[in-house]
Amino acid sequence: MRFLIVVVDGMADRPISKLCGRTPLELADAENMNYLASIGSSGIMAPEKTNITLGSDLAVLSILGYDLEKYYTGRGPLEAAGAGVDMNKWDLAFRCNICEIGPGRTILNEKAELPKEEALRLEERIRVACSKGLKDVEILFKHTLGFRGVLLLRGKMLTLNIVTTQPKRFASIPDFVPLERTEEAKYTAEILSRFLKISEHESESGKKYAVLPWGGGTKTNLPKFSDRYGFEAAVVAGVPLIKGIGTLCGMSVVDVPGATGNFDTDLHGKAKAALETLREKDLVLLHIEATDELSHDGNLEGKIEMIKKVDRMLGEVLDNIALENTRIALLSDHTTSVELRSHTNDPVPVVIAGGSFPRDGIEEYSETAARRGGLGLFKAEEFMSKLLKNTKL
Ligand SMILES: [Zn+2]
Repeated sequence: MRFLIVVVDGMADRPISKLCGRTPLELADAENMNYLASIGSSGIMAPEKTNITLGSDLAVLSILGYDLEKYYTGRGPLEAAGAGVDMNKWDLAFRCNICEIGPGRTILNEKAELPKEEALRLEERIRVACSKGLKDVEILFKHTLGFRGVLLLRGKMLTLNIVTTQPKRFASIPDFVPLERTEEAKYTAEILSRFLKISEHESESGKKYAVLPWGGGTKTNLPKFSDRYGFEAAVVAGVPLIKGIGTLCGMSVVDVPGATGNFDTDLHGKAKAALETLREKDLVLLHIEATDELSHDGNLEGKIEMIKKVDRMLGEVLDNIALENTRIALLSDHTTSVELRSHTNDPVPVVIAGGSFPRDGIEEYSETAARRGGLGLFKAEEFMSKLLKNTKL
């Protein structure tokens, strides 16, 4: 048996009044997703803990069956692994957003994409400036994909007892606030402020940018996915976060050159890569990012269009896969409300089909239809056991 898990980031949504109470997924009327539901079983998956709003880091780790309390140290180390940045025991890693800055240090765009050459010049400028006058700490910034980057701090006087905030559009640049009155907290906040200052620059176009670190964490050691489940796995993803999770779980990471994490991403290339990888691996996790980004942008039309594109990609997968010995799961990692432009704790629809998985009579893939499905309501940490039901490991 082979397994393909298709995670469509933030695809699930809430009913929208402008759509007469339907969700973007319901309006997209995705025929291949509906077909998958009609030959399998649906259910809705809730976050393990309902008191925190999940990001994709927590959600995807949960889906893969990792205990968050035991293994999650922050988003930064996962992003660092995805960027090929190795961490030592004392290092801190942060996710970074390149932001466009306006008057009064207001964030005009928290997802400002720089051309690769400009991003490389920025990396170099930060490297040179940060190497001057700092004896006790090394600072490494690496641009990864689009507006994303990773900051690694290496030194023994560092602590995570500081507040960092994910940058938000039209908010001010957040301060790095020590959470305790220790030399380490004061020092780490100073280092982050210094990095931020060094990163501020004006591009040739006259726009001003800064690099904002958030989501810090220490090195994490995840048990190998293959040891846990007894089979070899791979991830096909564009964004460093998912590549990093794959790397740290001991999975193969498949690069698709046109995978941008945006609306223009090469879904045909990703489907092809997933199908080819499935010939060698027992399980492939195929991740699509753009639905989440479009939701954060409040781009309803774009989100619906992207769901239709994902549906066409799914059709291509279904045309080229042997469903008698391949089990496909389609799910959203978390809900992202296009109206609120943020993640919510609402449960997400899941369908599992193929490989003799039972049919439950549901013929539509949506937030509402999945509630009536045979898989019922379950926690993200139970997903793998649902997927592997009645299979021999
Ligand atoms: Zn998101």
